[in-house]
Amino acid sequence: MASVNNEQKESESLKEEDKVISTWYILDPKEGLVEADKYDFKDHQNLKKFADYEIKKVRSYAGEPPHIKLMQKLELVDYEPGSDPGNMRFYPNGRLIKGLLERYVSNKTAEYGAIEVETPLMYSYEHPALKDYLNRFPARHYIVKSDENEYFLRFAACFGQFLMMHDAVISYKNLPLKVYELARYAFRREKSGELAGIKRLRAFTMPDMHTLCGDFTLAKEEFGKQFGFCQNVLSEIGILEEQYEAAIRFTQDFWKENREFVESLVKDKLKKPALIEMWNFRYAYFDPKFEFNVIDASGKAGALSTVQIDHENSERYGLKYVDNEGNSKGFKILHCSPSGAIERVIHALLELAYIKQENGGIAALPLWLTPTQVRLVPISDRHLEKCVEVANKLVAAGIRADIDDTGNTMGKKISNAEQEWIPYICVIGDKEMQANKLSVRERGIEGQSNMSGDEIEKKINDQIGNMPRGRLTLSMLLSKRPIFKG
Ligand SMILES: [Zn+2]
Repeated sequence: MASVNNEQKESESLKEEDKVISTWYILDPKEGLVEADKYDFKDHQNLKKFADYEIKKVRSYAGEPPHIKLMQKLELVDYEPGSDPGNMRFYPNGRLIKGLLERYVSNKTAEYGAIEVETPLMYSYEHPALKDYLNRFPARHYIVKSDENEYFLRFAACFGQFLMMHDAVISYKNLPLKVYELARYAFRREKSGELAGIKRLRAFTMPDMHTLCGDFTLAKEEFGKQFGFCQNVLSEIGILEEQYEAAIRFTQDFWKENREFVESLVKDKLKKPALIEMWNFRYAYFDPKFEFNVIDASGKAGALSTVQIDHENSERYGLKYVDNEGNSKGFKILHCSPSGAIERVIHALLELAYIKQENGGIAALPLWLTPTQVRLVPISDRHLEKCVEVANKLVAAGIRADIDDTGNTMGKKISNAEQEWIPYICVIGDKEMQANKLSVRERGIEGQSNMSGDEIEKKINDQIGNMPRGRLTLSMLLSKRPIFKG
């Protein structure tokens, strides 16, 4: 029987985090390492916001972050009053976007060579490795009772994968060995004052990859590769290099021995200055780590991609491989989330769209993620059949199209489609039917143009390329849809 008092439930690592002394720098590709308070941020305003946020560590929001109104207005995600705060409901279009991102990241890790597994959501306090690990992981957790036993809900997919790899037979020929799970869900009992829409949640979806490496040199090499892998993942999702800032964190000892390695990440891969956090000792299991952070409209950072090199858990979990001379050896393990939590990615895209709009631009989601890519608008009922024909053809080509068959006026239909950030709005009337063309308004472009259904299809397919496709699960006809706004 397990019973854990509250004091033990507070992780040692959280207490150590309070003791560690961090020194902050900017590593500039040209100027090298500069103390953060002496760095000239003139051309790097976003990095300045990030450095301020990190150094001052103010996590709570003064007002409501703008992505919350947007996720509700676009009928994507909302609060669930029937659950614990930070456990959200996803409406059909939110589920669609989330599913596309999940598929994308899972496909990318498979291409990168990771093997996909699935592991349990809850774990015993009594397992010796887990008990010890809980103390070294800086997070708070949920507790679940089953009969007289207490279990904690996973806050990452690490333990499940480590327990699995403990029981596997691994040879040096298998290395580096990459294991992946899309952890739906991972649970962290964040302080209620720190919860913020879909930025900081208590239940979230975490793409979680672990790489078992034979030694530290190979782990470092893999760390460099995964830095590039994460850059590629964010850019394909539609988060541009200028829209995120890198933090690289490590101990003073690591810097002394690996200065050139860190400099090469910044110079050759990032190609812009990075925030450096240097610790006086290793307070958790990792050293070094990096993350890519989006700065939201409130000037607060949200970490997306991250990689850490783990020095403790191979031993803690008894993970071993057989080297080329038949000796049993432990690993250095990399923890990697190529995109960060999926909800956090949606948060970032909404906040970036809001910032763009505030700066006089047009808010939009990346085309591959936009729920309705083409909205067809019949001028009158007699044009509906043609709209259905065009929409079906687009859907067959992997494009999400729907039809506004409501009784609204033409002006209202177009303004509704604009409110939904729909990239292509196509009107069909007598003139269009005769010419076999659509009158098209492209989001972000002034005026209208005439295009055939085939031309739109080609244009969208060229832009989406190999990114995942998915169908609208809502009815193609707007009149047949429920309204999900609360
Ligand atoms: Zn992990």
